[in-house]
Amino acid sequence: MTHTAELVSTGAELLSGRSINTHARLLGERLGRLGITLTRDTTVQDDLASIQAALRDAATRVDTIFVSGGLGPTNDDVTRDAVADLLHRRVVMDTDSLNRLRERMIRAQRPMTPARERQALVVAGAHVWPNPVGAAPGERIQQDGKTYFLLPGPPPEFQAILDEHIVPYLAQTLGDTVALRERVLLVHGLGEGDIVHRFDQASFPPAGITTAYCAGAGRVEIRLHPATPETADALLDEAAEHVARMLGTAVYARERVELEELVARRFRERKQTLATAESCTGGLIGARLTALPGCSDFYVGGIIAYANEVKERMLRVPAALLQNEGAVSEAVARAMADGARAQAQSDYAVAVTGIAGPGGGTAEKPVGLVYLAVAGPDGTRAFRTIFPGNRETIREATCRAALRHLLDQPGM
Ligand code: ATP
Ligand code: MG
Repeated sequence: MTHTAELVSTGAELLSGRSINTHARLLGERLGRLGITLTRDTTVQDDLASIQAALRDAATRVDTIFVSGGLGPTNDDVTRDAVADLLHRRVVMDTDSLNRLRERMIRAQRPMTPARERQALVVAGAHVWPNPVGAAPGERIQQDGKTYFLLPGPPPEFQAILDEHIVPYLAQTLGDTVALRERVLLVHGLGEGDIVHRFDQASFPPAGITTAYCAGAGRVEIRLHPATPETADALLDEAAEHVARMLGTAVYARERVELEELVARRFRERKQTLATAESCTGGLIGARLTALPGCSDFYVGGIIAYANEVKERMLRVPAALLQNEGAVSEAVARAMADGARAQAQSDYAVAVTGIAGPGGGTAEKPVGLVYLAVAGPDGTRAFRTIFPGNRETIREATCRAALRHLLDQPGM
């Protein structure tokens, strides 16, 4: 097993703008954790010739090839035929998959049709993994020193098969040969440029360590890798500590983790509850929190208070405050947080109010101006920020800042 792999993504919808190719990103991330680099993603139309050409090409470069999509029941799903034909194998019915499919149809009270049965077809000789959330199974085919992984297109199915079967399989196959040695630090509030500048001033990294950066979604991920196999773990640890000292509180995690997950951990540890009051984010904060399974053990709910009347009636923000200070003001953010905390009877509440644009800005209160408040047992703290960008990025940044501030509360 080599340490590079390629993906062949199939589907005209990925090329016509109807779907975004999320598989490349997920696969690259999961493989990266195993020390395997995804070196190429080739997206092709879902026809036999295009798929085969891409596979032939990939096989000239790497030994591990992932193929996604086109395993469904319709006759535009030709991936398994393409692979079988390329490898001079037959397509056969997999009885286990067929039985699982039949049970699935019975549970769903739907008839079994010949088209559905097609989803239990596999390339002869393939190792078959059941699909935990859908019909078409995942397959692994080994031939001529190459390993082909076939996965269905729907993102939940692609992810389930990858995480439940393929990642454990690869981890086991690779064994300790590439026990992944990296240190990760997540940074919020500093750009890549700021970070690199500080590193340069401190002549970081030291010999034996290489750095990699990934910026996106309002944070920068810093990765430290051994420059050679001889680099000691202690040196990696020391380098990570050095980064943490240089960047201070901007470092909010030492692992790859989403902000809401950190918030959840913190509230669960403290057995405290949280409510939200959202104006300009319109429920984005609540949506991110409720995307976490089991979030009800700390997140009690939220109010989307867009109009002033709703801020008054549901969050008890005084009318005079709205009148005198304006809806986008520190006083109103505080009152929203206090109101949400009181109404929801939660330990904490976070409130945001801001101008997401494109209209509505003034010289005094420009587009991007956001007030954020967190109310808790130790009082209410407010923050003012001006975010650059458009409506979407301002709302996203506000959401992240709210989650970030929840982690920074005294006693939290
Ligand atoms: P199905 O049984 O649903 O037909 P399939 O394995 O045949 O599954 P496709 O028909 O290729 O897969 O795609 C099914 C769905 O998955 C489509 O909505 C498609 O947009 C989505 N999809 C396929 N490939 C990707 C990808 N690389 N990234 C994100 N979504 C994808
Ligand atoms: Mg399909």
